[in-house]
Amino acid sequence: MEIISKIEDLQQLLIDKACPIAIREDMIAGIAANAMALQLTKNIVDVIDWKNVATDPVRMQFLPLASELEEDHPNLALDSLSEKKDEVVAGVIHRYPNKVLFLLNKVCPAYCSFCTRSYLVGPSTQRVQKDKIKMPFKRRVKGLLEYLKCHPNINDVLISGGDLVLAKLPLLEDLLTELGQLTTIKSIRLGTRGLFFLPQYFFKDHPFHQLLAQQYLWLKKRGIEFSIQSHFNHANELNSLSQMAANELTSLGIKIRNQTVLLRGVNADLPSLQALIAALVAANIIPYYIYQMDMVPHAEHFRTSLQETITLSKQLEGCFTGFHTPKFVVDLPNGGGKTNIYAFEKYEKETGTYHYKSAVKANGPFKYYDPLRISRMET
Ligand SMILES: *Cc1c(COP(=O)(O)O)cnc(C)c1O
Ligand code: SF4
Repeated sequence: MEIISKIEDLQQLLIDKACPIAIREDMIAGIAANAMALQLTKNIVDVIDWKNVATDPVRMQFLPLASELEEDHPNLALDSLSEKKDEVVAGVIHRYPNKVLFLLNKVCPAYCSFCTRSYLVGPSTQRVQKDKIKMPFKRRVKGLLEYLKCHPNINDVLISGGDLVLAKLPLLEDLLTELGQLTTIKSIRLGTRGLFFLPQYFFKDHPFHQLLAQQYLWLKKRGIEFSIQSHFNHANELNSLSQMAANELTSLGIKIRNQTVLLRGVNADLPSLQALIAALVAANIIPYYIYQMDMVPHAEHFRTSLQETITLSKQLEGCFTGFHTPKFVVDLPNGGGKTNIYAFEKYEKETGTYHYKSAVKANGPFKYYDPLRISRMET
């Protein structure tokens, strides 16, 4: 069984792994309330410690228990970063002056419960009716290229989704070839969780690896940095297969920078973050960002208060060399962009509201709210 996406297959897996019946029922109810579809890869199943499944940090990210869930804050939103407002042509989000985000697809090998793009990614669930991608891929690429030609100041393209590890290879190759021909582009980054979900795609004999190797060399000749943005949240995710996948890329010369979402119960404690960063560094992956979790619905149990995040960020100072110390950011609701977590202008304790300014937009407000659990505790 390579991919698990049917509830019957999950039921069977839980029985095979001798999961207690109470947890099985709790999980089935949790999945029914999830914003994201059920889907797991073999490597995820292998990494989960089924004997301690209730507290396992990898299980928590994909298989929520109903008993973990919390009431949503009233200001959560499916498109919490207002990406749709900054969509300049289909699939192209232009928020920062010199860079764009291109959403290539809407499918992933597995679905994370806290996904920031839960308005789009994966099949619809009982909870969330997903947006459809309206335009065929080739027309979206054409739109992207035309936009880039009209905006020669844009030199950095981040390709994400969904997860491009599932893209049809000829389409991905066409996209990269076209982008590489633009003399204005200096950096192309691929965002993927594939190193953990489908590590074998990055091994030498796999066509996906071969495409990356070829494109890297060709783009390098054209003076374009072609790099990977990975997404690891816990040291356990860097098992031997994921490490091998990362090694295959770095030995080609491809840089990998990692983004982590800070998740309560998963990695929001100092030992977990230290272990994660140590594992990333050992695999030659640069710890890039740690994100304050976005204000998306149906995943409220994962959100830390901003103060907890700031405390962790302070504790992490000096644990690693500066260039292995990730930057803690909050991606501001209302499309304000990534901002240093410390940079708020005002904090209202009664409502747990942090007021920020945006570096990229004049019109706010840009407010981040603590979970109700915190504001209730404090009043
Ligand atoms: C995160 C993001 C980028 C890339 O930002 P970096 O800080 O350069 O990694 C680009 N566009 C959008 C819309 C983003 O959210
Ligand atoms: S891999 Fe990324 S895009 Fe896919 S579900 Fe997880 S967070 Fe969302």
